Amino acid sequence: MFKKVLIANRGEIALRIHRACKEMGVATVAVHSTADTSAMHVRLADESVCVGPPAPKDSYLNIPAIISAAEITGADAIHPGYGFLSENARFAEIVEAHNITFIGPKADHIRVMGDKIAAKTAVGTVGIPLVPGSDGEIRSLAEARAAAQEIGYPVLVKAASGGGGRGMKLARTAADIDEAITTAKAESKAAFGDDAVYLEKYLTTPRHIEVQIIADSHGNVVQLGERDCSLQRRHQKVLEEALCPVLTDETRAKIGETVRRAIEKLGYLGVGTIEFLYENDEFYFIEMNTRLQVEHPITEQVTDIDLVREQIRVAAGAALSFTQNDVKFKGHAIECRINAENPKTFRPSPGEITHFHAPGGPGVRFDSAIYTGYRIPPYYDSMIGKLIVWADSRELCIARLKRALAEMAFSGVETTIPLFIDLVDDPEFCRGEYNIHWLEEWLAKKEWAE
Ligand code: ADP
Repeated sequence: MFKKVLIANRGEIALRIHRACKEMGVATVAVHSTADTSAMHVRLADESVCVGPPAPKDSYLNIPAIISAAEITGADAIHPGYGFLSENARFAEIVEAHNITFIGPKADHIRVMGDKIAAKTAVGTVGIPLVPGSDGEIRSLAEARAAAQEIGYPVLVKAASGGGGRGMKLARTAADIDEAITTAKAESKAAFGDDAVYLEKYLTTPRHIEVQIIADSHGNVVQLGERDCSLQRRHQKVLEEALCPVLTDETRAKIGETVRRAIEKLGYLGVGTIEFLYENDEFYFIEMNTRLQVEHPITEQVTDIDLVREQIRVAAGAALSFTQNDVKFKGHAIECRINAENPKTFRPSPGEITHFHAPGGPGVRFDSAIYTGYRIPPYYDSMIGKLIVWADSRELCIARLKRALAEMAFSGVETTIPLFIDLVDDPEFCRGEYNIHWLEEWLAKKEWAE
């Protein structure tokens, strides 16, 4: 096992990794920007190193500074968390070149899955069903028009390097295709430095369902069921559930096994998520995330498996501590992403949290790095915590979620808690009747301004 892990991240995920390390008897090193000197991940870590000024490109994305921090402190592994450098294949290679273990998959897998066109080809060959779409990259407007005609409108133009919902443009009819291609390319070039795009059939009422897997270096691959992440705003997840409220056990077992076998064939290592759109009882692959995800705790709650602990163990060369047969799903879990934002306009609300009261009681978990007196810096993501609630049934889980939301108190900053309080009271939500567009329609009905 590792002796010391450097955590190349901040906020709740840095704390989550720190917690797993401490429970395993592993020392931790926090890195931080000058804006995060008094952050909880820095306070709790055994050691900390300042790696640069506030802007992420100068600190949390500053590869030379992070590698130096690992060398100076003698860390033998680096955990990248999610976001920042977690899906940067070059970073994984540099870490390994310094004889430090990257807690994640092999660089080649990160690279292939980071290019959505290459990813579709790779998973298509191991039996994963794909969204119908263009045969690889679209290189000209003429090619786009022909491909869109063949796929059938509406079509979605997507960036090969896309992420966070950026570089995605909808063409409802042939009249929209030229502009969709041009704007998706420009947006992708600006955000990711790459303007490669491809086309996909636009599914009109799918759910977003993703399967969690974990693999060790001894050939064992286990699938841990799915999460339903259909409740999104601007293609960003807002609330997630495990398991999906509408899948039958039979469908669940089938897609889980398809994914498990595919991952086995790919020779993948570590945790990963295969994301699908699900419509009319069919699954369509959209992408693979080669890292721990924000919503991993709901899977932990329904499987009783500590994913971060297992992720660290398999990175250190250990075999998984359970088999597929040991995985039993129990009860229901829901996660709400609490952001420091105005709940109606979604405008970020940085500043000092002058008072905070955490929710508690049976089945309630709050993964966060905030505290009373904490000043939320304006430079980073506005998510300040994840409320995760578990109960025996979905009905009880929603009741528990309601009371947990009501227990939370904040002063000094605005949060998205009022939105969740309203949402969990909606009869359609309570019946599990929603798709990827439902939340935006619900928000529009509320006449909550964009
Ligand atoms: P990103 O990496 O930017 O998050 P994804 O490919 O994971 O992009 O897609 C994010 C979201 O965009 C999906 O959860 C879904 O809501 C929507 N989406 C993606 N592809 C399609 C599609 N072919 N049809 C309809 N919606 C889609």
